[in-house]
Amino acid sequence: MEKIQGALIDMDGVLYDSMPGHTLAWWRMMTEAGFDVPRDEFYLYEGMTGHATIRMLYRRDRGADVSEEECRRLYARKSAYFSEWGEPPLMPGTADVLRILREKGAVCVLVTGSGQQSLLDRVRSDYPGIFADGHMVTSRDVTHGKPDPEPYLKGAEIAGVSPGNCLVVENAPLGVVAGKRAGAFVCAVTTGPIPRDEFVKAGADMIFGNMHEFAAWLDKNLVP
Ligand code: MG
Repeated sequence: MEKIQGALIDMDGVLYDSMPGHTLAWWRMMTEAGFDVPRDEFYLYEGMTGHATIRMLYRRDRGADVSEEECRRLYARKSAYFSEWGEPPLMPGTADVLRILREKGAVCVLVTGSGQQSLLDRVRSDYPGIFADGHMVTSRDVTHGKPDPEPYLKGAEIAGVSPGNCLVVENAPLGVVAGKRAGAFVCAVTTGPIPRDEFVKAGADMIFGNMHEFAAWLDKNLVP
């Protein structure tokens, strides 16, 4: 690991324990639209933009392209179901992870494939003093979502740090792939039901079982 000067931090499943709400919302919306996709499968698509997920499932299961209008309509419904699920709780242990990263001098940037405004609005009050103004990359800022490296390359640029000196914090295999392609050191935390092996295959540099384990490792190993 090079000297870490930037920390690029994912949101869903990292800052918030929000993935159960997302997968339920995806499953409800797609089932209503006539698709047969098991709920847990949506954990694997985390990181892709919502529109990219809908386009991919249409092509795969219907062999046809979804219209822009239909895509927007379906994604709006998914977002409404997610809001209905309620306020996602903070991920236990993440506040310690972020505090240690800041104490060791890392510039923190939020990098998410999400465009869920209700959640994005909460980040700076839920985690005060971590993310400076504008230190945020969302689905609106990128052409290609994860697993493309674009979101993490943009995050590194905002941090003003070369990607090789950035540490990425991820809970999703596609996010791990994106971080590795960007050239960062990628720490995966298995905060959901995805087996550890998927993170090994995705190329994670380190894999932790929860945020408390990760915080302890950072405290011991990150050079200020
Ligand atoms: Mg995530």
